[in-house]
Amino acid sequence: MKIKRAQHYGMCFGVRDAIDLAREHSKGQPLTILGDLVHNEKVMEDFRRSGVTVERDTSRVKSTKVMITAHGASRKRIEEVRSLGLEVVEATCPLVRYAHRTVEKLVSRGFYPVIIGKKGHVEVLGLTEDLAECTVIENPGEIEQIPPHPKLGVAAQTTQPISRVRGMVEMIRQRFPSSEVYFMDTVCRPTKERQKAIEDLAVECDVVLAVGGRDSNNTRQLAEKSRALGARAYHIQGPEDIDAAWFSGEETVGITAGTSTPDELIDAVEARMEQIASGFAKRVMSEVAAV
Ligand code: SF4
Repeated sequence: MKIKRAQHYGMCFGVRDAIDLAREHSKGQPLTILGDLVHNEKVMEDFRRSGVTVERDTSRVKSTKVMITAHGASRKRIEEVRSLGLEVVEATCPLVRYAHRTVEKLVSRGFYPVIIGKKGHVEVLGLTEDLAECTVIENPGEIEQIPPHPKLGVAAQTTQPISRVRGMVEMIRQRFPSSEVYFMDTVCRPTKERQKAIEDLAVECDVVLAVGGRDSNNTRQLAEKSRALGARAYHIQGPEDIDAAWFSGEETVGITAGTSTPDELIDAVEARMEQIASGFAKRVMSEVAAV
């Protein structure tokens, strides 16, 4: 069995910085994080153990300081929180801020905003809540929901697969041939690097393990992409999810991870795979010795 890691994987700088900021602001004082700082249950559990609370509903906040996650929030939402007398710490990723500025620019230039992303996702809510009007579409079937407009400005949630986004932009152009359809690429670089790396890994490997929280959208996408490229892929949360029965010992196994997966977890998955691989190697040796 061969084990390979993707060239780009795991925690991005945006999530890493947000975690550092949460640690800094929770030293010796209560902090409430508004929503999941990362879509990773293990990281969030560590925060809860150190006294940090997580709330979605601001009426339940007990601390005076609250943190907006790397996913960002709308100005409206931040003002609502401040109006409750709470101090706001913003851990918004600079690449999410770029997406906000991009959408604002499109609107100020007279474009009707179309966001390609997951409806109801915290980042998409942050991108759209300040807008007077917009349409969020998740898949090509929803292009029909875009109202006719002479100028359509398209942007995307930062973690959407770029090839899919570009494909949908083309479909929008075909659906509205007389409109000016302007696309601003807001998919972030760490996401693009991971998507490119998974394409390379999936074609080289028989099996891909995508490590990340159950709710991590980008980990799910890494597993889906691997399957689309012909690998058998599993979305796992950690080494304990790996079943040795998935392998015959002959495979090349690739390991990748979502943008909120801590390095220690990826190391632990690799260590578990090394253990499984050495079990297969020992079995082969003893079979050879018995012949
Ligand atoms: S996935 Fe991209 S946009 Fe989101 S926090 Fe990471 S770097 Fe920032």
